[in-house]
Amino acid sequence: MYYQSQTLIFHNGKFTQAHQAGAHLYSQSLHYGIGVLDGLRAYKTNEGPQIFKAFEHYDRFLRSAQKIGIQIPYTLEELVQLTYRLLDRNHLDSAYIRPLAYVGANMELETSSETHLMIAAWPWENFRGKEPLDVKISSYQRLHPKSVPMEAKITGYYVNSVLAMNEAKQAGFGATLLLDGQGFVAEGAASNFFYEKEGCLFTPPAGNILPGITRATVFDIAAELGIKVIEKLFGPEAVYQADTAFFTGTASEIAAIKSIDGHPFPKKWKDTMAAEIQRKYHQRVLLRDYDHYSII
Ligand code: PMP
Repeated sequence: MYYQSQTLIFHNGKFTQAHQAGAHLYSQSLHYGIGVLDGLRAYKTNEGPQIFKAFEHYDRFLRSAQKIGIQIPYTLEELVQLTYRLLDRNHLDSAYIRPLAYVGANMELETSSETHLMIAAWPWENFRGKEPLDVKISSYQRLHPKSVPMEAKITGYYVNSVLAMNEAKQAGFGATLLLDGQGFVAEGAASNFFYEKEGCLFTPPAGNILPGITRATVFDIAAELGIKVIEKLFGPEAVYQADTAFFTGTASEIAAIKSIDGHPFPKKWKDTMAAEIQRKYHQRVLLRDYDHYSII
């Protein structure tokens, strides 16, 4: 699914065949979850493949690495250029892109100074499909910001996401929503959360979440459309009474939610402001923001 016999990845300084690349079984990342990842998307546009907000993603990647003491020997510009070369070498014009920094063999509890970098890309359509989701509020809490830096995107954090997702799937739901340690809504397994009520959008503030790049894009689009976005803490009851809700993330883009814990939302997705934001988001990633303006 992720690679074929000819697929190339960038690994430890060179382009190499994905099926031949390997990592050390004694890697500290494998044992203790100390690694950094990010997820980007390239879109096929009239101007060729365009990675949406590539600099923002790699900036987060470098900052995340710094937070946990992983040294990445590449600049922001080099990482972006390498990724365009990777797409080119694999003849991909739309793809999901996964950079991963992991560290060397070390069983001590201090970040290893040996860094390995891989960047892979594969065609990955919006994996949640287009159907609005039935969401379960997780019994697992989102990680506490006093335990780990929540603004960083670290491999080990996804144990929490996988457990929450397993639980939701086993109960017949399509996705999960996690609360923070105080019972306020935090975020999805790999996405941020918004709800819409009486013409406003509400979303949890930074602190207990990864403040996503798609989330920031929604703020921009909402401002352009004159829609107010309120960042505040709220519990599940506020969400049960919403008009609609959605997840945001690079992989899932803007994913409509149909119900939370069996409470269906009253508005049809297509009648919401959120649907308009979703439409604008698709135009933006395809560089078609200005399509509706005619050039005189
Ligand atoms: N929260 C978590 C936990 C995530 O893994 C992601 C995906 N990176 C997001 C939010 C959304 O972030 P972004 O919009 O930058 O992809």
